[in-house]
Amino acid sequence: MNETFELRFWEKVDKRGPDDCWQWIGAVDWAGYGLINSGGRGKILRAHRASVILDGRDPSGKSVCHSCDNRSCVNPRHLFVGSHKDNMADMAIKGRHGTKTKPERIVRGESHYWHRHPDRIKRGTDSPYFKLSQHDLQRLFFGDLVGVPVKDAAKELNISRATLSGIRTKVKNGTIKVDPVVSDQRSEDV
Ligand SMILES: [Zn+2]
Repeated sequence: MNETFELRFWEKVDKRGPDDCWQWIGAVDWAGYGLINSGGRGKILRAHRASVILDGRDPSGKSVCHSCDNRSCVNPRHLFVGSHKDNMADMAIKGRHGTKTKPERIVRGESHYWHRHPDRIKRGTDSPYFKLSQHDLQRLFFGDLVGVPVKDAAKELNISRATLSGIRTKVKNGTIKVDPVVSDQRSEDV
């Protein structure tokens, strides 16, 4: 991260008091997270990750989570570095999955879809929930399949349209996480 990047970053932040949310006023992605071009190589970084890196912390291989639950906030005081598991646990505590207000939504054990259809789990993917790899997901949400009609995208990924819309829903509500396109190795040397 060089000075130019840092300047460009802060230009897009509505900086308030130390404990307030600092809203990202630049581009956001499909999920509401701020995005910033890391320069040079045309790589896109999520703004809250960039904020943590500018704050001198190292989120390599970890999730950067919001304690304020505001996805477009980039106040480093509201951001903590944790594992994907921490992030999910944090969201569950805050009820972002709807589990707090609607406990019947928690699917357990034998009744879970994948327990009834174990043949549908493609082994070796990053998530146990479904059939797409992170690479497929990145294509779908950041890459060449953005804006492609459901029918065609589903065909391209060799899944049904219903599965594809299910995945979109899960990504929106945070059940399935799509990693940022930029790997941590790359984001470190911007
Ligand atoms: Zn905040």
